[in-house]
Order: sequence, then structure tokens, then C-alpha cells
Amino acid sequence: MTPRTQDLLRTLPSIDRLLAHQEVRAWSDAFPREVVLSSLRAAVEVVREAMVAGRLDAAVGDEDLISLAEQELTRRSMPSLRKVINATGVVLHTGLGRAPLSDAAIEAIVETASGYCNLEYDLEAGQRGRRVDHVVELLKTVTGAEAATVVNNNAAATLLVLTALARGREVVVSRGQLIEIGGSFRLPDIMHAGGAILREVGTTNRTRIADYEAAICDRTAILLRVHTSNFRIVGFSEETPLEQLVALGRRVGVLCVDDLGSGAMFDLTTLGLPYEPNVRESLGRGADLICFSGDKLLGGPQCGIILGRADLIERIERHPLMRTYRVDKLTLAALEATLRHYLDAAEAAARVPALSMLAAPTDALAVRARELVESLKETLADEQFTICSDVACAGGGALPARAVPTVVVQWDPEPASARRALDALRDVEVPVIARLRDDAVCFDLRTIRAHEFNDLVAAVAEARMELDSQLAGDGGENGESGAISLPIVGG
Ligand SMILES: *Cc1c(COP(=O)(O)O)cnc(C)c1O
Repeated sequence: MTPRTQDLLRTLPSIDRLLAHQEVRAWSDAFPREVVLSSLRAAVEVVREAMVAGRLDAAVGDEDLISLAEQELTRRSMPSLRKVINATGVVLHTGLGRAPLSDAAIEAIVETASGYCNLEYDLEAGQRGRRVDHVVELLKTVTGAEAATVVNNNAAATLLVLTALARGREVVVSRGQLIEIGGSFRLPDIMHAGGAILREVGTTNRTRIADYEAAICDRTAILLRVHTSNFRIVGFSEETPLEQLVALGRRVGVLCVDDLGSGAMFDLTTLGLPYEPNVRESLGRGADLICFSGDKLLGGPQCGIILGRADLIERIERHPLMRTYRVDKLTLAALEATLRHYLDAAEAAARVPALSMLAAPTDALAVRARELVESLKETLADEQFTICSDVACAGGGALPARAVPTVVVQWDPEPASARRALDALRDVEVPVIARLRDDAVCFDLRTIRAHEFNDLVAAVAEARMELDSQLAGDGGENGESGAISLPIVGG
């Protein structure tokens, strides 16, 4: 360390000196002392590091350190899990929390969270009850299943089915269905964890019933069909129909299980959407058990739903692992409210946001796009916004590779680049996650909800200001902004 650096470091104030400033004293009323202290320390540390690294060659005044600490304080006192605007057009976006809940489901959560409830208490008998019983009858009514149970997510559902029914035995799966979802759900790994032996059959693009038949032996427990959620093999390909698997299973005395993944509750083509295997259809074709997620096409809370034969559901529920995947009361509250919508398919289509967003016709989206551009123009008269048609996808392992037509509002943030604007939009009060198209920022109306327009306009205005200050500041696009986030550094 040079003597010059040592001199600089000696100019850094003590935390006590900073604490004595009027402004900093005022923080103590609004923020916990620990947060104030750690923000001050972080600010001093950033400056110290810059000095040591030779990026800062002048003493820094207390005022500047305090303003740096204030930015830090704001950041640290913000919740980590925050509301964002999904402008990607991907309705079931796992990174953004999948399905938004219906108003009724939200009310049910608030009501249940605010006090006690009869979670495991049978009000009629006045004695201990079972938590999943709050949704079992509804699930049976809505799907026609003989029995039902609910666990924490569909990965858990799959694991439980395999562990309870196929531990130490073989599970036959088509090579074309050995999927990985979102990096963490890999079917072969789940199979291994469940103690089942994976028996792959067929090829990536074609698996026939004869391939399954040839694989059956006295160790076979399950013929498993998996919905290839997030990809689709197109062209020369063949999947064995579920009916044939069921018939084979019955003939040789082996179970047939269908992992539906997204779990559409009814035929989505009635909403003008592409075909997607659905729950009733799978049960109708005779699958012994099916499982699917609660927060994909069902449009409810995160959970995994298992439906099918009563004797099998009972074996699963008796398994000790069942207790480790149980759902909490808030999930059950939201699930029950969501399922109630499905007592009438038309009501579900109107009330369940995931479905109404997916099914919104493009002319309705175009009307909303014009409204959005109007609101944007009121605040940002000089910006360029254009309405275009585009294609988006459902996401969440539903309707794979099926492009859904949509309408977007494009923002050309010149002279800043669209890439910079995309970044700036994430660094505002209500962050906006958008996508790029033709070097413009693209806001997809399929996932932007009307009540979010004000926040979106505010976000664009905030981003515009940030972009302008970047452009004015340090050579703009190729400048070294953000080397350290200290306005004074280098100045
Ligand atoms: C999404 C999906 C899963 C995992 O479901 P989670 O609810 O995210 O655990 C499992 N199988 C298939 C086929 C899926 O699409």
C-alpha cells in the first residue's frame, strides 16, 4: 500500500462521527439501529475498497458517505420478495411465481392467515380432522376422480408415488419423456431418490406399445407417462397413447401413472387455446393415478395434486414421507377457493387469472395496448411507443412450443439502448420484467394487468430518468458506470 493510499484511508470517518450527523440521527426513528449501522459500515467499506484498489484518489466528505449510506439503507429496508410486473407474456413464469391467484383465493388466504381455522379440526365431530379433507371432496367433484390428495408440489407428488408404489422395483418410461424442468426437476434423479429403478424404453422421438411390452418383467411396478412439459418433439415422432398403456398395464397387472405436469382441468380448446392433455381425459382413459401442479394451468397456489384409485391414494397417504410434504393452511385456503371456480368451467375461465390471461383474444389485448400507450404518453410525451402483434408462450410447462399470438407495446428508448432500458426497468420501485425485440423493449399485454398500468408508467418514467443520467454522466453506453455505485467517485 502506498503512503498516498494510507493518507487517504486516514481521512475515512469513524462510524460514531457519521452517527452524530443530524440527518443520520433522524434515521434512527424510522429504521432499526442495526440496519442504520450496517448501512453506514457498508458505505465506508465501499469507499475504503475503492481507495485501496486505486479507483479513488481523493478524500470523501461525510455528506457523500451519508448519501451513499442512505441508498444502502433504502435497499436494505426493502423486502427481498417483492411485487414485479410481468411484461414477458409468459403467463406461467416459474421465475415470477407462476399463477397469480383469483380474488376469491386471495380473500381466502387473508381470512385464514388472520386468525385460527379448523385446519385439522372436524367441526361437526368436535375432534381432530385431516387437513387435506378441506379439498378432497371438491377435487373429486371437479375431476370425477375416485380419490385425491395434496402435497407441497408436483415434484413431491411424483416422488411420493414412486416411493410408495415402486421402491426397489422398475418403472418403465419412454426415452422421449425423460424430462428436466427448470434445472432442478430431472425425472431420472427423482426416480433414483424414490428408490425406483428406471427402465427406459424406445427412442427419443418414437416409443411404441411394443417397446413397453418388451420391458415388462416381474420387477415392473409402474408404466409412467410424463407430459413433456417444456419441449415438444416435432416431425417424425410417436408417443404411445395413454389408452394403450392402460390396457397393457391391466393385462399384465402393472399400474399406469400419468404425470400431467400442468394439469389443465378441462379441454382448453374450448377457450380457443391449443390442445393440452387434461385431468378428466386422463382419468377417463383409465390412468390408475395422475399427478400435476397446482400453480400451472389450474391457476392456484403451489402444490401437487394426486388423483386416482382410492386404494393407491391410501397407500401414498400412509407413507411416512407424506408428512414431510404436507401443505400449509394458506395453500389449502387458496386451493379450495380456486377449485370452487371449476364447479363451472365458464366461471373458471373468467375468474382464474391464468386462464383468462391465456384465453384473452388479441383484439381485447389491442384495446388494452392502446389504453396503455395513452397512459404512457400522458407522462412521457416525447417517448416513442408502438403497438405490434407478436407471439408469446404459456410457460410453466404448459402448451409447450405452442406460440400464442399476442399484442405488445414497444418502447424505443433511444438514444439509450434497449438492453440498458431493460436493466433500468428492473431497478425501479415496482420492477418491470420485459423482453427485447428488434432492439426495442417489449411490454406484452397478455401478462400485464389493467390495475398495473400506473406502476408500469411510473417504472418507464423512472427508467427514462436513470437512462438520461447515465447518458449525461459517464460517456453513456460504453462508459464505466457502476464500477462502484458512488456518485462522487471519479468526480
Ligand atoms: C412442472 C412439472 C413438474 C414439477 O412440478 P412442480 O409443481 O414445479 O414441483 C413435474 N412434472 C412435470 C411433467 C411438470 O410439468
